[in-house]
Amino acid sequence: MNWDDFAKWGAKFADWAKSYHETIRDRPVRAQVAPGEVFNALPVTPPDTGTDMEEIFADFERIVMPGITHWQHPRFFAYFPTNATPPTVLADYMIANLSAQCMLWQTSPAATEMETRVLDWLRQGMGLPEGFHGVIQDSASGATLAAVLTMREKALGWAGNIEGLPGQKPLRIYASSEVHTSIDRAIWISGIGQDNLIRIPIAGAQRGMDPAALDAAIRADLDAGMVPAGVILCVGGTGTGATDPIADCIAVAKKHGLYVHVDAAWAGNAMICPEFRPLWDGVEHADSLVFNPYKWIGGQFDGSVHFVRSPEDLTRTLAISPEYLKTHGKDGIINYSEWSVPLGRRFRALKLWFLIRSYGLDGLRGRIRNHVAWSRELHDRLAREPDFEIVTPPMWSLWTFRYAPEGAEDLDALNLRLVNAINDDGRIYLTQTRVDGALAIRFQAGHFDATREDVMMAYDVICEIARGLR
Ligand SMILES: *Cc1c(COP(=O)(O)O)cnc(C)c1O
Repeated sequence: MNWDDFAKWGAKFADWAKSYHETIRDRPVRAQVAPGEVFNALPVTPPDTGTDMEEIFADFERIVMPGITHWQHPRFFAYFPTNATPPTVLADYMIANLSAQCMLWQTSPAATEMETRVLDWLRQGMGLPEGFHGVIQDSASGATLAAVLTMREKALGWAGNIEGLPGQKPLRIYASSEVHTSIDRAIWISGIGQDNLIRIPIAGAQRGMDPAALDAAIRADLDAGMVPAGVILCVGGTGTGATDPIADCIAVAKKHGLYVHVDAAWAGNAMICPEFRPLWDGVEHADSLVFNPYKWIGGQFDGSVHFVRSPEDLTRTLAISPEYLKTHGKDGIINYSEWSVPLGRRFRALKLWFLIRSYGLDGLRGRIRNHVAWSRELHDRLAREPDFEIVTPPMWSLWTFRYAPEGAEDLDALNLRLVNAINDDGRIYLTQTRVDGALAIRFQAGHFDATREDVMMAYDVICEIARGLR
């Protein structure tokens, strides 16, 4: 393909995208293919000769599209959203055009300097104080890994990277049972080990960590000769939106001199609205926090925003500067690859810049407020139905429920059947979680183009399909 053909196809793709988004409500939200269907539709051997785009595109429509779950469907109520918006799709197109590898300041000064500026816009937008410095990580998992490695190195007096962990006293990290599995994996990868991730009991409707239990666990470990290294707090856990009492937990951690990382991958987005911030009061005392702007405000998958108090601690943990990566004679520059595990980095800040400039923070806030209001309206309606029960209350736009008609046995099996039947139906998409061992169905509203009617349709679909099951 030459660049003339590229321009022709680029225009066609833009038309395709417009009609895809305009007609997306007609598609089932979750892909309806069986396992192996796409794999078997693809030739066993690779082509030796090139094919023209006409044919590739026809196969894309025929083979790929049926196997797509439509994350941009306004009735995607499963997991958390990955909102794409017209300006961020265009930004991603520019990122691909430039395909700049932005590991160092000099490998694209614009990428580095825009990242610094735009993340500071988000810091201000979220009401975080000055003194938090942002970096875009590949994922929340990557940000949390960087935080856990920093905890480890600080606790070991920077000896871990050099000497390894054998011979060191066991390090201990504390979190509730509600944190994401990316925390467990960071503990594995950092060599700290699952047995040293101490689960602190939760209490109350917000399913938050009990600060007194945290204090007791740290003291017990100190008495036993272990080395407490850090606390990982949760704001808006994935299952039910569990949120730790941030101020009280940080006060305990700081009393013992521990590093605190806050995982707000989804709920951090809501903090651009001041009225939602009381749920993370005290967060300004954390050492680091992460949120994924694609999970609600439209930052377009992928990329995670990682704020740190001390870039020095992070780079002391992760930076290696061989001669070929040195930038001589430039003072005051940032090489963001020293802030993360991967060396290479895409120009992800461009998406955030297009996004924030296109909508303004008020445009983004309006969407979040609508999602929360509509989700609560749906919650209130379902709560009034005698054969449904609310399992966990709304945390921002997320809550869980179960179908519990009188006399029904094995509610877990019934609700699993319900969620599968709903997703086979295709008008909406929901996923399940477990709450204190029992199956519950999650609901969250967060798609950028969702309307109140889209959210209310979930009421009709849930009731209709549930009552048809019996
Ligand atoms: C989605 C999510 C993660 C993982 O995010 P990745 O960017 O995919 O690593 C971590 N924590 C919470 C609370 C999440 O919701």
